[in-house]
Amino acid sequence: MEYLPIFLDLKCKNTLVIGAGDIAFNKIKLLLRANAIINIIAKDLCSEIRYLLAQKKIFWIGQEFKISYLKNVFLVIAATNNTELNKTIFEKCSKLRILVNVVDDQSKCSFIFPSIIDRSPIILAISSGGTAPVLLRLLREKIEAILPKRLGNIANMAGKWRKIIKEKFSNVLERKRFWEKLFNSIFVQHIINGKEKKAISTIEKMITQPNTLIGEIILVGAGPGNSDLLTLRALQVMQEADVVLYDNLVSKDILNLIRRDAKCIYVGKRAGLKSITQKKIIKLLIFLAKQGKRVVRLKGGDAFIFGRGGEELEAAKNANINVQVVPGITAGIGVSAYAGIPLTHRDYAQGVIFITGCKCINNISNNWSVLSDPSYTLVVYMGSLKALEISKKLILHGRLKSTPIAIISQGTTINQQVLIGRLDEIDKIFKLTVSPTLLIIGPVVLLHRKLKWFKNLSNFNNLKTTSSVINI
Ligand code: SAH
Repeated sequence: MEYLPIFLDLKCKNTLVIGAGDIAFNKIKLLLRANAIINIIAKDLCSEIRYLLAQKKIFWIGQEFKISYLKNVFLVIAATNNTELNKTIFEKCSKLRILVNVVDDQSKCSFIFPSIIDRSPIILAISSGGTAPVLLRLLREKIEAILPKRLGNIANMAGKWRKIIKEKFSNVLERKRFWEKLFNSIFVQHIINGKEKKAISTIEKMITQPNTLIGEIILVGAGPGNSDLLTLRALQVMQEADVVLYDNLVSKDILNLIRRDAKCIYVGKRAGLKSITQKKIIKLLIFLAKQGKRVVRLKGGDAFIFGRGGEELEAAKNANINVQVVPGITAGIGVSAYAGIPLTHRDYAQGVIFITGCKCINNISNNWSVLSDPSYTLVVYMGSLKALEISKKLILHGRLKSTPIAIISQGTTINQQVLIGRLDEIDKIFKLTVSPTLLIIGPVVLLHRKLKWFKNLSNFNNLKTTSSVINI
């Protein structure tokens, strides 16, 4: 982080603006909104600033800048068109540890002005640190569009009730639940419609309702990696979580979307490393929920597809804990879509089978003649360790050695890599991949060459999406 965003209290603090043209006026308007004491050093004032002077909103020192004017000043803005003078002001202020901003010269600023969305008392300040002003403007438009109308009134009303709510609910978690319930209720709509009395009676009614802490466990599928593929519901519960237990396959981009104050606990299993057992994960989930916490169990893909979600849900039910399930896009669906491989196709595959490569070889319930039926596409999760054995079994039961296969590494992410080859080359291809990898077996794989789309659509210049065809 290049700059730390903080909010300054400038009420009744001395500030100094050197220069009194249009640019200075823009900054003076901001200082006025923050109720600062504004002293201006300039020989002449532009008409707008002269008007402010007439209204006694600012003080004017009609002199040249002198270091003595910096005495007892909290913050300085240099907005002159004299580069040398701006430089001197910056140096003097820096020496005296006074906050200084030389307008339009970021190298001579100890702070910069963010772009401000003011719905006082709610204030949003955003900045690109001077790197991308146009991007910032677009972002600002988007933020403006999603903010509810009368946001300031909503916050003001909450502020008025804060003390009463604090007295009523002494437990922090209980208070949090109350506010969440209130802001998700008709209360907000009443304020938006200007019906303050109705809003107040909503609060009054809610206060009297029992607000006992009831914990719950929410199993959430986070999708195959790309944060664009999270569902709206997943994002919502991630924003309401008290604790999040997350797995190895949940990407950093997705973790960044969790509510800042939520406690995040890594419970992933990395191949080859000693890791927390499933039994312990379940114990922890139940322990946290019983404390009244809203526990989000965040898993890659979908929790019910090779994700042990069923076991966790069952344990929660047995412990009488409230549960919810938020489905996610499983790797088989998401990764194949991003690789341009339709899993079924009227001309190539009449069905699709998802299997796990882990433990599948000796699993007697696996019907290898069905898995080897060429009219089904086979999607293999966790296939890397047993790839060779899987291919041998399939060939033994009738799949052609030349059956096309795709091995997709880190699918849906900017590092996606698609390798295409033949079933009898499986081992050779797996050696070229980085985990996680998804294996797709069947004629639909051939469509990748024509249907691949991901790299074309991406806006990233540094996209590394690659696809190679090995000997097909
Ligand atoms: N519950 C998850 C699967 C967990 S098993 C789901 O529904 O997707 C983990 C396996 O999923 C990995 O070994 C790999 O085979 C597959 N996988 C998950 N994310 C993947 C990705 N981004 N690219 C390729 N394969 C992925």
